[in-house]
Amino acid sequence: MANYDVIIIGGGHNGLVNAAYLARAGRRVLVLERRHVLGGAAVTEEIFPGFKFSVASYVVSLLRPEIIRELDLPRHGLEILPLDGTFTPMPNGDYLWRVNDHAKTRREIARHSRVDAEAYEEYGKAMVEMGRFVKPILTMTPPDPTSLDPRGLMDLLFLGRRFRDLPDQDKYNQVQLMTMSAVDFLDQWFETDVLKATMSASGIIGTFLGVRSPGTAYVLLHHYMGEIDGAFRSWGLSRGGTGAISNAIGNAAREARAEIRLEAAVSRILVKGGAATGVVLENGDTFTAGVVSSSLDPRQTFTNMIGEEHLPAEFVEDVRRYKYRGSSGKVNLALDGLPDFRCLPGAGTHLRGAISISPSVDYMERAYDEAKYGRYSRRPYIDMVIPSLTDPSVAPPGKHVMSCFVQYAPYHLKESSARSDHGGTWDEHREAFGDTVINTIAEYAPNIRDIILHRQVLTPLDIERTFGLSEGNIFQGELTLEQLFFLRPAPGWARYRTPIRNLYMCGSATHPGGGIMGAPGRNAAMRILKETSAR
Ligand SMILES: Cc1cc2nc3c(=O)[nH]c(=O)nc-3n(C[C@H](O)[C@H](O)[C@H](O)COP(=O)(O)OP(=O)(O)OC[C@H]3O[C@@H](n4cnc5c(N)ncnc54)[C@H](O)[C@@H]3O)c2cc1C
Repeated sequence: MANYDVIIIGGGHNGLVNAAYLARAGRRVLVLERRHVLGGAAVTEEIFPGFKFSVASYVVSLLRPEIIRELDLPRHGLEILPLDGTFTPMPNGDYLWRVNDHAKTRREIARHSRVDAEAYEEYGKAMVEMGRFVKPILTMTPPDPTSLDPRGLMDLLFLGRRFRDLPDQDKYNQVQLMTMSAVDFLDQWFETDVLKATMSASGIIGTFLGVRSPGTAYVLLHHYMGEIDGAFRSWGLSRGGTGAISNAIGNAAREARAEIRLEAAVSRILVKGGAATGVVLENGDTFTAGVVSSSLDPRQTFTNMIGEEHLPAEFVEDVRRYKYRGSSGKVNLALDGLPDFRCLPGAGTHLRGAISISPSVDYMERAYDEAKYGRYSRRPYIDMVIPSLTDPSVAPPGKHVMSCFVQYAPYHLKESSARSDHGGTWDEHREAFGDTVINTIAEYAPNIRDIILHRQVLTPLDIERTFGLSEGNIFQGELTLEQLFFLRPAPGWARYRTPIRNLYMCGSATHPGGGIMGAPGRNAAMRILKETSAR
């Protein structure tokens, strides 16, 4: 008899959500996590004594409200603190500061353009409608359009009907979102360059595309779908860092009797007669189970843990073609004080929200131009937060932690480059990349260099090595149209099942994709419960 009903590979937040739902349904569940700490890319670590960092992901919005409710996450320690607005400093000494207070933001945008202040309201309403249309899709197992399965056909019909019932303008918007670039889409509403630049940033996060590349408008919508307490498009910080989210989910899973083992790296998935039967750890330990559920990306799961010889040739091709192309880096700073922005000096509330270095559309596109040719951006897009201002538990008194998400940092650096400073490997360029980020921030907040006590620089190679995310892609594969919904991670295999019987996938590489959302883990659990029985 198998040791467990289900073995889950990976203790990131999706693996843990998967575990919690399966254990609550009475399955005997084992979670195997390679690292010494739970959470995957949603993790908190004390990198420097007294300074706790959300090492990778740093803000939360997409976490599904039904998961928070059903797993009773607040009782298990989850607390989301609001993050108020986005502050965008400009090189000319001005700034754009959007906050959650609608009237204030309107006045602020009107300072730049009255037309845009009007349009902002319309845009917000349109995006909420678009989000409403897409929302039920998040919790759905994608139908396979090539299958004649009546349940799949019903799902397709449901989607078709929803689209038909949209007001005409929303129909056009939906098609535009699926096909246009973030900037072209925003151009239809706004005229202020800095407003379009800072809003378009949501369209390129985790994606190796520029703000003018077709397809990026969809990523805008992906980032609009978050909900905190029912308020659309609000981002927050998790008290204790994003690792506290994973720990809360882990606690819910443990309470339901799931077993979670740390420092348990899986090296192989056991396959017998075309079915998964268990796993082997790097230390040789073997565990058997009726079902194996992998929260890792397709390359890690199929190429590294199964081997192409066990898989249909067409699927092997799909796994090879699946795009990662990591484009992001992260710089985590321990600070002795607060950055002082030339355009708005002092420790005001503008430091409590996101701070975005995205001063113009051309700036954003130029940052991408360099990445296209295998270089990290000389002047990158940077999204910063200072969580210690909202949650003092993460830094010693009077000190701060600052998280800087950076794009573009292409995983594949050009080997030889006309600019000698950019040829070579990420191991050679890590510190220079960190310097580029600090120098860019210093152009707006010159005191930054004087207040840095420690810094941690994560290149896409570090993201791959530390978190097991192939090519450092933060979403376990790009969120581009050809890899979404019934195509994620491969055509015909978007229903959490795989060509190996009893092997399921439950991580961000499945529908509806990346971000601290939990939906892939929950959807996959529902599938597993439907299709398998406890042994
Ligand atoms: C730098 C960065 C910034 C981000 N910022 C945000 C943000 O601000 N907000 C947001 O919503 N999202 C953000 N994201 C994306 C988000 O964090 C991820 O999409 C999400 O956390 C992925 O969760 P997951 O459970 O699907 O996979 P993962 O978190 O990748 O979990 C997979 C787990 O498997 C483990 N593992 C790997 N190999 C093995 C093995 N051989 N054996 C056992 N275990 C193994 C890993 O250690 C990991 O714990 C960011 C990601 C990164 C990297």
